[in-house]
Amino acid sequence: MERYFGARAALATMHGKERAFARPFGALLGLELELPAGLDTDQLGSFDGRVPRTGGPEQACRRKAQLGMERLGLPLGLASEGSFGAHPSLPFLAAGLELMVFLDQERSLEIWERLIARRTNFDHRSATALAELEGWPQRVGFPAHGLIVRPEQPCTGAQDLLFKDLADQQQLAGAIGAAAAGSSNGRALLETDMRAHRNPTRMACLRTLAARLARRISTPCLACGAPGWGRVEVVPGLPCGWCSRPTSLARAERFGCVSCSHSEVRPRPDGLAEAEPQHCPLCNP
Ligand SMILES: [Zn+2]
Ligand SMILES: [Zn+2]
Repeated sequence: MERYFGARAALATMHGKERAFARPFGALLGLELELPAGLDTDQLGSFDGRVPRTGGPEQACRRKAQLGMERLGLPLGLASEGSFGAHPSLPFLAAGLELMVFLDQERSLEIWERLIARRTNFDHRSATALAELEGWPQRVGFPAHGLIVRPEQPCTGAQDLLFKDLADQQQLAGAIGAAAAGSSNGRALLETDMRAHRNPTRMACLRTLAARLARRISTPCLACGAPGWGRVEVVPGLPCGWCSRPTSLARAERFGCVSCSHSEVRPRPDGLAEAEPQHCPLCNP
């Protein structure tokens, strides 16, 4: 798509996401990303929980992109937003939902891409000392992946005590000791740092997401020519192989335009036409 070739888009980030985004947007769209200086995206909700996020992640993501555009006076903008917690269909598995939006103010376009990150190190622990954690920091990728440490139940005066950007075991042990001392139950709370520049696993997800969004933007709608054509939803109802009744598995995918009402239903990309009876609510209750 030549529409955006040589144009500049504001990328609102303070966590090094340009490392993941610049290449796909440059290669597929010829779009240059510009970072607004001194932008505090943490005012919209921060990963350490100090600033709660108001509204949903979509709202935070859009607002972030708009802030960057306002700051740089550009009609194009990008932002991403991650949410972490239990996997929607497998509650015992940690998962991340990564959202990314591209705004084109002049054409009133809002193009989204989403990614459920099944591979994430999102986790937390409580401890009185490092030895108690029995290798957990290594299992969540420390020190290549960051950890955030604070008092589990902060004493008066220790509410703002928080350690991040710890370089090694020694600094981690010190942070746990200081946080535990500032907690009324003598325990430190350790959480994986989900900021992109301190989390290589998340950064890899963002790279995938950025490539998908750039591809979507580069795909024009067949009806109106607007950028952003792509999959908008999966259509459930794959028939059971035994009784032919619809299951909750995807039967097809619907593709759509962000600008006009044109859409198309296409078969599953893997060609699967029947569901295993184990997914059927009747054959395998
Ligand atoms: Zn069945
Ligand atoms: Zn269209």
